[in-house]
Amino acid sequence: MSWDFSTEPEFEKKLEWMRRFMHDEVYPLEVLDIDERGFMRAIRPLQEEVKRQKLWATHLPPELGGQGYGQVKLGLMHEIEGASVWGPIVFGNQAPDSGNSEILAQFGTDEQKKRWLYPLLDGKLRSAFSMTEPNTAGSDPTLLSTTADLEGDEWVINGHKWFTSNGMIADFLIAMVVTEPEADSYERASMIIVPADTPGLKRLRNIPTLGGEHERFGYGHSEIVYENVRVPSANVLGERGQGFLIAQARLGPGRIHHCMRWLGQARRAFDMLCERALQREAFGKKLASHQTIQNWIADSAAEMQAARLMTLHAAWVIDTQGASAARKEISLIKFFGAKVLHDVIDRAIQIHGSLGFSADLPLEEMYRHARAARIYDGPDEVHRVSVARQILAGYQAPKGTWPREHIPTRREAARRKFAALLEAATTDA
Ligand SMILES: Cc1cc2nc3c(=O)[nH]c(=O)nc-3n(C[C@H](O)[C@H](O)[C@H](O)COP(=O)(O)OP(=O)(O)OC[C@H]3O[C@@H](n4cnc5c(N)ncnc54)[C@H](O)[C@@H]3O)c2cc1C
Repeated sequence: MSWDFSTEPEFEKKLEWMRRFMHDEVYPLEVLDIDERGFMRAIRPLQEEVKRQKLWATHLPPELGGQGYGQVKLGLMHEIEGASVWGPIVFGNQAPDSGNSEILAQFGTDEQKKRWLYPLLDGKLRSAFSMTEPNTAGSDPTLLSTTADLEGDEWVINGHKWFTSNGMIADFLIAMVVTEPEADSYERASMIIVPADTPGLKRLRNIPTLGGEHERFGYGHSEIVYENVRVPSANVLGERGQGFLIAQARLGPGRIHHCMRWLGQARRAFDMLCERALQREAFGKKLASHQTIQNWIADSAAEMQAARLMTLHAAWVIDTQGASAARKEISLIKFFGAKVLHDVIDRAIQIHGSLGFSADLPLEEMYRHARAARIYDGPDEVHRVSVARQILAGYQAPKGTWPREHIPTRREAARRKFAALLEAATTDA
């Protein structure tokens, strides 16, 4: 029997280094008023330091320059990196590059790895993942309408995508497109690598969103039209028709990382909540002495602890049984974690009053980003449906009219079971 919540002392030292580094070197980046060139210059030495510490791109196996940490350790690291919006880029783990590098590593040919993966890991290229479309429901990707037809040894891609994060600055995109229109729903799509300078690829705009300011430096969500975009047939990732399978490989661990990053954000908001409670006075006492505020603190702590344990458990299931065994756990944390993130930031804003609503604190920006967490990587509703379906698959409808726990029915059965005993008891009396 093993049941252990401890962190190895050696690994704890790395986490401690990360906490200090984030606090001293990365948080200050958030408030610097500089352009992209200045920003990239400012983060280069930090990225070098991360590489020296062997903490760069930790999501990848050692043969690809990562450290081969499992998902539990990765989760603990993402919790620390995710506390700042700039943490992942400094640690070489930023989405969508991290997910794209994982699928290139797992499914790419040697040639694809050489051309796209290694430069991506070196930070020399940037990438995007182009799946969602304005005219079909992203929640149900079997409806995808962008097509790729094989003409000679070229794919010809036509369609309309949007919310392709980093699409405007990407050097290449991984597009999810229909290549097998006649196949079963989950075997119709393939992933195809599209260099951003391919003729016919029209990057229309970054869509203005609630995310706002952070989308400076081009890190926005772009709208893209594919008009007779021709790429070599060798640009298909994995096998034809494997798009959904590859998407699952990308999204499973990626959701653990998201959830842990959200906890890093929630923790920061929670610290601000507690500090303000001790600082501000109203109606003759500190806010910390008002019961409502105490409830917020206790509820937030309980919810964050629950989300953290659920997320680490999902990570452990991936580490020990593989990503497909963790489908229910991953869906559970995706919608639960997004709500915890939202609620904790919301309470932190509330306790700061007008200051919380202002851009003089990071809370308003955190709140805007938190809203998107309920939508990207599958909206809450879809994950709830998935959880409920998987749970219900383990149940059967009780036979007959009454629920299995119906007390009169159970009483009757218990009487029959203990009839002899009851009879003896009556006779003895
Ligand atoms: C910040 C951000 C970044 C993103 N980055 C990317 C990216 O890099 N690449 C990419 O391809 N996409 C990206 N997306 C798109 C994202 O994956 C989709 O928005 C998401 O999958 C939902 O698809 P949709 O927007 O088409 O909503 P729809 O599918 O139209 O769903 C709309 C709403 O319908 C409801 N709904 C759907 N299904 C059900 C159901 N079964 N039961 C009950 N209600 C339901 C939900 O409330 C849902 O929010 C990003 C989105 C955001 C917000």
